[in-house]
Amino acid sequence: MKPHTQVCVIGGGVVGCSVLYHLTRLGWTDVMLIERSELTSGSTWHAAGGFHTLNGDTNMAALQGYTIRLYRELEEITGLSCGLHHVGGVTLADTPERLDMLKAERAKHRFMGLETELVTPEEIRRLAPITNTEGILGGLYDPLDGHLDPSGTTHAYARAARMAGAEIVLRTPVLETNPRPDGSWEVVTEQGTVIAEHLVNAAGLWAREVGRLAGIYLPLHPMEHQYLVTDDIPEIYERDAEHPHVMDPGGESYLRQEGRGLCIGFYEQGAEPWAVDGTPLDFGHELLADKLEKVADSIEFAYRRYPVLERAGVKSVINGPFTFAPDGNPLVGPVPGLRNYWAACAVMAGFSQGGGVGLSLAQWMVEGEPERDVFAMDVARYGDWITPGYTRPKVTENYQRRFSVSYPNEELPAARLFRTTPMYDIFKDMGAVFGHQYGLEVVNYFALPGEPDYEIPSFRRSNAWDATAREVAAVRGAVGINEVHNFGKYRVTGPGARRWLNTIMAGRIPAEGRISLTPMLAPSGRIMGDFTVSCLGPEDFQLTASYAAQAFHMRWFEQHMAKGVTIENVSDRLTGFQIAGPRARALLARVTRADVSADAFRFMDVKRLDIGLTRALVQRVSYTGDLGYEIYVDAMDQRALWEALWSAGQDLGIRPFGMRAMMSLRLDRFFGAWMHEFSPDYTPAETGLDRFVRHDKDADFIGKAAMLRDRDAGPARRLCAFAVEAADADVVAYEPIWLDGRVVGFCTSGGYSHHAGVSVAQGFVPSDRITEDLEVEIEILGDRRRARRLTTPLFDPDGARMRG
Ligand SMILES: Cc1cc2nc3c(=O)[nH]c(=O)nc-3n(C[C@H](O)[C@H](O)[C@H](O)COP(=O)(O)OP(=O)(O)OC[C@H]3O[C@@H](n4cnc5c(N)ncnc54)[C@H](O)[C@@H]3O)c2cc1C
Repeated sequence: MKPHTQVCVIGGGVVGCSVLYHLTRLGWTDVMLIERSELTSGSTWHAAGGFHTLNGDTNMAALQGYTIRLYRELEEITGLSCGLHHVGGVTLADTPERLDMLKAERAKHRFMGLETELVTPEEIRRLAPITNTEGILGGLYDPLDGHLDPSGTTHAYARAARMAGAEIVLRTPVLETNPRPDGSWEVVTEQGTVIAEHLVNAAGLWAREVGRLAGIYLPLHPMEHQYLVTDDIPEIYERDAEHPHVMDPGGESYLRQEGRGLCIGFYEQGAEPWAVDGTPLDFGHELLADKLEKVADSIEFAYRRYPVLERAGVKSVINGPFTFAPDGNPLVGPVPGLRNYWAACAVMAGFSQGGGVGLSLAQWMVEGEPERDVFAMDVARYGDWITPGYTRPKVTENYQRRFSVSYPNEELPAARLFRTTPMYDIFKDMGAVFGHQYGLEVVNYFALPGEPDYEIPSFRRSNAWDATAREVAAVRGAVGINEVHNFGKYRVTGPGARRWLNTIMAGRIPAEGRISLTPMLAPSGRIMGDFTVSCLGPEDFQLTASYAAQAFHMRWFEQHMAKGVTIENVSDRLTGFQIAGPRARALLARVTRADVSADAFRFMDVKRLDIGLTRALVQRVSYTGDLGYEIYVDAMDQRALWEALWSAGQDLGIRPFGMRAMMSLRLDRFFGAWMHEFSPDYTPAETGLDRFVRHDKDADFIGKAAMLRDRDAGPARRLCAFAVEAADADVVAYEPIWLDGRVVGFCTSGGYSHHAGVSVAQGFVPSDRITEDLEVEIEILGDRRRARRLTTPLFDPDGARMRG
């Protein structure tokens, strides 16, 4: 075992071996992997080996497509067989909602270049003849679906890495990982100690334990999972071709051919977290005892769906554990708070995702950033609020919902209530229907007495429609009030604060008392954040951005820290309200003695005001696009602020509003949203954020060179807004945009403008196809809808009200 290495990967499952291989492929060959036992000794050896591209997140789906296409290449490089069976697979829909979901998936696949196909029950019977299609409305066929040999594939990754110079050390548990002052790691084993410049935790079933060696909690948990392998079945072995995979979400099962019989696995409702207090260190190449009673209902259902099963004997039952994060996606990337410590764990579908995880992580380590936005699997999508108590019920829920329909407006129930503000009970009593964001309860809308106190999940317009319309009308017609707890907020102070902000932000850093909007860029020129910067004093700034990106942004700030700057995440310490609408100024004037007239308190000013009992920081900006103010106070003062605003606003027509109304209001002015219009997949020139970039400022800000190149070349695509002739469903995200019978782009977000009575979509179109009066078609749930480009905002087009 060598004493020094550039990277030490802990764990020789499919994920660790993929990371090792991809590092060598990108040119880092002084790398090693340390495995406690033999390769594949965790979840990997007993996997069913199935792979598929379907994933609700398009970038995850793209990485799954990459993984599947990689296997042939691995076989060619190494001469080893991955045991590939590219047999195709069909996902069944037994309800209209499930068919809607498959239609939405198919639509996304169009611009991703995936050749999936919606199929009828008749076609399903032809493709997968053992399927009883009674009650089936249709399905989605994916020719890329298949299965492989888990052990062969893992060894192929390992051999490819070794061939490029990587070292693999077997039968050597890592006992300690200790950070060194220079940012490297001391990796202690019984065979000796290795100094590693970078450490990768790919310890799968033991990723929690290996994380603890570095003092961190990684939010993942193992679940038990069972599949059965049958004896030989004549209807299978007498076929000319291998039987395709069949996913039957209604029966919570997946099925494929295994030799001359079948293999069927279940994601049952009675799912159980495994090894709650930690994965035993001596667990290895063994299985858990069968628990067939847990899947008895699913088996019964499967007998009806595939009658041949009932006649087949069971050859073996596999019950093994594997890990999930709370949302079911992997945990990948630099672990916040640690230097040179990388996660590659919670990969619940190692054979669909392992290649993409390895590629993305290796790009991140070698090139500084992955080639596409990987926020969906970024370990920093969770903050330090996350606990095992949260993770366990969410992981269980995720397992149980593996085959459930995922609706765009759905709010999941597990691990709630967790984080609330002082307003929770007050808003609850007012009829608030809450959603869940980054652990926090957030009001979606307010139901009237007699209306359901929950939003019915749907791909179409939901029962929140009327409430949203009421709240939008209150904002546009009088004054609305909404909490600002779900903004990420940061305090930047110190003598170096302005200089640092000028380097890290691409836009202008405002003068004292003023506010500016600015993108934050990666060196590649892609968007890392869209920030509001307020200058509170010569060495004192407040930043606001997306609440859900807190750990992501703090990690970036810490990675780019400079002398003389202190940055604090104050997201949960500062809260308050925004007030917006034509009477917002009148309301503010009633609760403070300060002069808040249009001349004294201008658009984009920031001031400290005494409001009622509180001392508040007030910013004259509003994401609603209306006359508005964001009012921030210490969380302890929030109720006093509420009392002041609420009582003063009664005869002004004040109404509370939630996120559904907010997202409708922002569409009136085509404002973008983080992770929709603005994400690390896009650049300022593509999205229009370039109007906030100041290339001419003195600072050589991060991303400047790339940004200038992009601007000079002209982006190949640009964001446009559209009015869509939608019927009962609006754009959510990733719907294809058709022009002249071809898919030319995709939507980033959309919804209904209750103010203008227009269904609005935003999306990317090739720059050379954009005209003032562009007409396209946007595919919503399988129907192509006519859409007309909008160039003038639907509300306050010249900004007179917002700025007045
Ligand atoms: C029954 C079952 C069926 C499945 N079917 C499928 C399927 O069809 N398709 C699919 O894609 N996925 C499937 N999976 C999931 C798949 O097995 C996992 O996604 C995958 O194996 C995860 O691989 P990994 O490398 O992250 O973790 P693991 O395979 O758990 O590997 C972690 C490795 O780290 C090593 N290690 C741990 N601690 C230390 C230490 N301190 N020092 C050194 N080494 C250490 C372990 O020995 C182990 O070899 C299934 C899982 C189960 C249980």
